[in-house]
Amino acid sequence: MRRCFSVFALLLAVACTTSAADAGQPKPPNIVFIFTDDLAYQALSAYKHPLKLLATPNIDRIAQQGIRFDRCIVPNSICGPSRATILTGKYSHANGFYNNTNNRFDGSQTTFPKLLQKAGYQTALIGKWHLVSEPTGFDHWQIYPGQGIYYNPPMIRNGQRIQETGYTTDIVTDRSLEWLKKRDKNKPFLLMCQHKAPHREWSPAIRHLGHDKDRKYPEPDTLFDDYSGRGIAEKTQDMTLEKTLNALDLKFRYPPGISEAEKIQWDAYYKPRNAAFQKANLSGKDLIRWKYNRYLHDYLGCIKAVDESVGKILDTLDAEGLKDNTIVVFSSDQGFYLGEHGWFDKRWFYEESLRTPFLVRWPGIVQPGRTDGHMVSVLDFAQTFLEAAGVPAPAEMQGRSLVPILKGHVPNDWRKSFYYHYYEYPGPHSVRKHYGVITDRYKLIRFYEPGVDYWELFDRETDPRELKNVAGEPQYASIRKELETELARLRQELKVPDPDPESSLIGPRKKK
Ligand code: CA
Repeated sequence: MRRCFSVFALLLAVACTTSAADAGQPKPPNIVFIFTDDLAYQALSAYKHPLKLLATPNIDRIAQQGIRFDRCIVPNSICGPSRATILTGKYSHANGFYNNTNNRFDGSQTTFPKLLQKAGYQTALIGKWHLVSEPTGFDHWQIYPGQGIYYNPPMIRNGQRIQETGYTTDIVTDRSLEWLKKRDKNKPFLLMCQHKAPHREWSPAIRHLGHDKDRKYPEPDTLFDDYSGRGIAEKTQDMTLEKTLNALDLKFRYPPGISEAEKIQWDAYYKPRNAAFQKANLSGKDLIRWKYNRYLHDYLGCIKAVDESVGKILDTLDAEGLKDNTIVVFSSDQGFYLGEHGWFDKRWFYEESLRTPFLVRWPGIVQPGRTDGHMVSVLDFAQTFLEAAGVPAPAEMQGRSLVPILKGHVPNDWRKSFYYHYYEYPGPHSVRKHYGVITDRYKLIRFYEPGVDYWELFDRETDPRELKNVAGEPQYASIRKELETELARLRQELKVPDPDPESSLIGPRKKK
């Protein structure tokens, strides 16, 4: 009898669910998270950068049909740590992934894909993972081993190694769309489409070689920065276009994985230009300029394929009738230098690496064509996706849901400051450890290693390029004091360990 009743209750529940859906109850939205690696907002036409480096019409569609965030910042400007932050909604010290050199993501911890999966979402991850351990919380995944390569990449699909043929951005797009088309159409979904591009060594698709018709690119004001007005950390880094770019970066060597047939077309573009460069025997600023132009051809060429990928994804959402109930997010794990301060790469608390592109389309919720200048972060993504899906976020997450801002209602108590912390030293590019606080106008930074221990203060209103450290100037003494207090408050609130824990260190702890 009891069993009969249970079956009846189940049937009743199914009937109620069906009638609720028929009555137009809102369905949880799908989430398509299009993620890039090392993408400078300066490169996207959606961001209307004065140098007008590239047209990205498909990425711009997301901004036109949704919202562009102008101050999306990261807590630790480097690949793995930023990815771990996005998954967990936590700072590096709280999720245990501090640096790319010797950390491994603890996949047993709570992540937003796991919580969505538990709530009935189908979850898929395609592309770059870069967190050492295997992905958890995904019904389907296909990732690169490590960084991945641009041409004909080996990949790992649900634990099995496979060999793909073709250009990496196209492969990640096609595999994402294949999964999208054959998913269970009765369930909401999370699709994380995570490109390698435009990460170093910036190898464009063969079809995009020569995309810029040998354009001479306009230069950033700080291309020839001499780091005067700043300290030893800036003067001892190893990330300049002048000194750090290698033969692979500059395309004097074939990129990994390239096929014999691809080499013929690759040679047709690069060989005559490389020969002309060698004949010209450039030096000084002319040599830096040549490297800058080669770098931009390659870096922007990689973004052209990403833009095409976004176009394909948006078109597929239209064709599948998914546009109206799907949130499309476009972002990157951090920003990047396109010659500012003479640099490429990321890591610093300075603007170009701190900021990351962030666009959201959510029909019916986000009014099209909006821009927003509030301080938001990749730290907020997990709580945002959970609230959008109607899933409670765990109290220990350290960001804040952006759903109110997406709806056009900014909470009165929205953050006015943000904490930053970079740990990876010693490491590639020799950027020293630092932490700090940013407000709408000021940025206070502390380099905190023995021998490289000093403060920087930048007034971004009078010095937007961040060229003059005013930490020691008497007229900024009271501002500095306020910022130091705020920094201490944030470190306490976020429970930042002091000193850095052993797990964050690269090599044995050095005695002071
Ligand atoms: Ca990255």
